[in-house]
Amino acid sequence: MKENPFASLPQIEKLLSSPALEKWILRISRPLTAEICAEVIEEERNHIRKGEQPKDTNAIFQSIEKQCEMLYRMRVQKIVNATGIILHTNMGRSPIAPSVWSLAEEVNTGYSNLELNLATGKRGQRTGLLPRLLKTLTGGETSLIVNNNAAAVYLILSALAKDREVIVSRGEQVQIGGGFRIPDILAQTGAKLVEVGTTNITTAKDYINAVTPETAMVLLVHQSNFVIRGFSQKPDIKELIKGLPEEVIIAVDQGSGLTDETIEGEISVQSYIRAGADIVCFSGDKVLGGPQAGIITGNGKYIDICAKHPLMRVFRPGKTIYSLLEAFLIEKLNKTARGIAQKVLKIDMETLKKRGKKILKGIPKDLADIMPATLLAGGGSSPEKELPSQAVVLCSNESPGRIQNFFRMQDPPVIGTVQDNRFLLNIATILPEDETHVSFCIKKYFENGED
Ligand SMILES: *Cc1c(COP(=O)(O)O)cnc(C)c1O
Repeated sequence: MKENPFASLPQIEKLLSSPALEKWILRISRPLTAEICAEVIEEERNHIRKGEQPKDTNAIFQSIEKQCEMLYRMRVQKIVNATGIILHTNMGRSPIAPSVWSLAEEVNTGYSNLELNLATGKRGQRTGLLPRLLKTLTGGETSLIVNNNAAAVYLILSALAKDREVIVSRGEQVQIGGGFRIPDILAQTGAKLVEVGTTNITTAKDYINAVTPETAMVLLVHQSNFVIRGFSQKPDIKELIKGLPEEVIIAVDQGSGLTDETIEGEISVQSYIRAGADIVCFSGDKVLGGPQAGIITGNGKYIDICAKHPLMRVFRPGKTIYSLLEAFLIEKLNKTARGIAQKVLKIDMETLKKRGKKILKGIPKDLADIMPATLLAGGGSSPEKELPSQAVVLCSNESPGRIQNFFRMQDPPVIGTVQDNRFLLNIATILPEDETHVSFCIKKYFENGED
C-alpha cells in the first residue's frame, strides 16, 4: 500500500502544544497562532499536491514563528525611544510614571464611584477631584475633561460658537498632525471663521476691529509645529482683552499643557488664565505629562455650557483616564512625579555622557562612541528649539538605514535616528531602566547583526 504523503505533516494540535509556540500563544492568542499553523500546513499540502518536497518540521516551525512575529509586531508594545524627541505622537507621547499607574490600579481593577457621589449616595458628576486639582495648578475656575485636545477644541466651538463668528488670526490657521485643520474644524462645528491679520502679523486691534454683533469668540491657537521667524508679531493678550466687548469669549488652544517654566518662550496655561482668557484647552499627554486627554479650564459659566452639550456624552473619557489624571495631578502637585519633558529637559550634559559611557561599557570605541546631538521637546511645543544632548553613534560599514532596521526589530524595539549618514541612539530619551537593553542590543548587533 502506498504511504499517505500528507501523513508526514504535523498536526495543528501537536504544533500548538510544543514549547516553541508557547510564547506566541501568550503574545497573540491561541486561536491566532492556530490560524497561522493551519495556513502554513495548508501551504505544505499544496507543495505535496504539486509533487514538491514538503518542508521538514524545523522549517515549518520557523515559518510559523516568523508569521506569529509579524502579527506580534502589530501590537501596541513597549519600545525604547532613542530619537531625542521627548514627546512623539508616534511613540505614545508622555510615558505614565509607574507610581501614578499603580495609584490608579485599584480604581480600574474593581468597581469605582465614577458617577456616584459618596456624600449623598446619589448620581454624581464624572469629574472627581479634577476641577479642584486643576484650579490649584492652573488657576482655572473649573475644568472639564474630554478624550483629547482635538475634541476639546471641537466641543468649545460647538457649544459656544455654533452659527456665530469666531475670529482667528491668519497666522494661526494651522494643521496639527493628522488632518486636524483649524478652519475645517470650525466649519464642521458650524462656527463662522473670520480671518484677521496676516500670516506674520496680527495685532490686538485686528481682532478688536473685526468684532460684530455676531462675534461669539476670539480663538488663539498655539502654532504647535512651525514657527514664523523674522518680522512677526502676536497680539498682546492683555491689550486684546481690554479692547474686546465683555460678551466675546477669549478661548486659547494652548496645546502642550505647559504649567511651569521648563520650556522657554512658551506661554503656560496659568499665564493665559491670569491674563484673562475665558477658556484654555490643552492635551493631557504632551508637556503636562499625564494620560491622553483634552483638558478645558477657565470660566465656570462657559465650561458649564460645554459640560451640558450633547457632544460631551460623545467625548467623555472612562475611569482609566479620570483615575490616571487624578493620580498624576496629585503627584505633580506634591512634586513626587513630573512629566517626562520636565524630567528629560533637566538632565545635564555630564549625566548624559556618564549614561552613554555606561551603555557602551565593554564595547570597543572603534565600534561605538558618544557624540554631541540635539534634543527636541516635540508634541507641538517649541518646534524649533533644539537643546543639546548626547548620542551613541555606531560605526559600521552597513548603511545606517539597515542598522536602524536591526534595532527596530529587537525585543523590545529600539528606535534610533539617521543623521548625516550615521545611526544615532539619543541618550536623553532612553529611560534609565532601558539602558541595559540598549547596551545588550549594541553588543548583539556587533556579534551577529552586521553583515
Ligand atoms: C496637539 C495639539 C492639538 C491636538 O491635541 P490632541 O490631544 O492630539 O487631540 C490641538 N491643538 C494644538 C495647538 C496642539 O498642539
